[in-house]
Amino acid sequence: MKLIEGAPIAEAVYRECLESLTELKAAGHLPGLAVVLVGEDPASKAYVGSKDRKCRELGLFSMKIEKAATISQAELLDVIDELNADDSIHGILVQMPLPKHLDTDEVIRRIDPAKDVDGLHPLNLGKLAMDDPTGFAPCTPSGCQRMLIESGIETAGKHVVIVGRSLLVGKSLALLMMGKGRGGNATVTVAHSRTKDLPSITRQADILVAAIGIPRFIGADHVKEGAVVIDVGINRIDDPTAKNGNRLVGDVDFEAVVDRCEAITPVPGGVGKMTIAMLMANTIRACRLRAGM
Ligand code: NAP
Repeated sequence: MKLIEGAPIAEAVYRECLESLTELKAAGHLPGLAVVLVGEDPASKAYVGSKDRKCRELGLFSMKIEKAATISQAELLDVIDELNADDSIHGILVQMPLPKHLDTDEVIRRIDPAKDVDGLHPLNLGKLAMDDPTGFAPCTPSGCQRMLIESGIETAGKHVVIVGRSLLVGKSLALLMMGKGRGGNATVTVAHSRTKDLPSITRQADILVAAIGIPRFIGADHVKEGAVVIDVGINRIDDPTAKNGNRLVGDVDFEAVVDRCEAITPVPGGVGKMTIAMLMANTIRACRLRAGM
């Protein structure tokens, strides 16, 4: 069994980022990322903090914009308009989820597609569907694909079953994996909460991806002997034996499936490490594209 850890693969992405950054800086360009946080959700705050820290660590310009949960739709759109017009900013990320009174789709559509480093604008999702490499692919799915590539796991002709159909993860990953590029050319099945007899479908997977949001949902009866398992889930569960009384687990019951797998990603320390790395890579690419490099 091979454990596919995120950290070394993320480090490879950061090395590429630093090379690109050196070239950009030499040519007088500094990539800038703006992250917009609305409200006080502790998990969202932690994610925004990590993105800001990673930008500074690598030497990107980082702008953190924090707004009260009571912000109106019009005020939030004004924030996006200002960032769209700001030449020091090459990437804009609005941390999700937004408070319920806000129209998330309208906010995403307002972001300049050339600065949409989260890859969720309809133009970028359309490019993803069209195998057009000039767009930005969402960070978590790109991270999953990169992990497969770097681990030497062939995807062409393989049956990939993805459980979860969110745009942020499942649906976008399906587009990437059925695409004609590197790490693609798979035969893809997407399952969701209305799928009947899920285990009979997931057991057909050569590569099984769990992006569900239910702690340890995927058990031994879901996994074929010799399958590769990618666990996207990040769930905090109570654990009285842990220091803070809780710990992170994935959507896969790691202990139950590990002996059946050819390879598996851990949680924490798996896909989660890749999301920020791909965000940095997309921001640097956005800067290169604007600079014509
Ligand atoms: P989401 O928007 O809630 O989507 C969950 C998907 O799982 C939906 O398509 C849902 O089906 C499906 N689902 C729910 N219950 C199911 C069931 N019983 N059987 C089969 N499918 C079921 O969540 P998400 O944003 O995609 O995130 C998924 C997980 O990944 C979460 O744990 C999240 O924390 C994690 N995540 C991790 C990263 C990272 O950086 N590693 C990034 C993003 C998300 P329906 O569509 O029918 O409701």
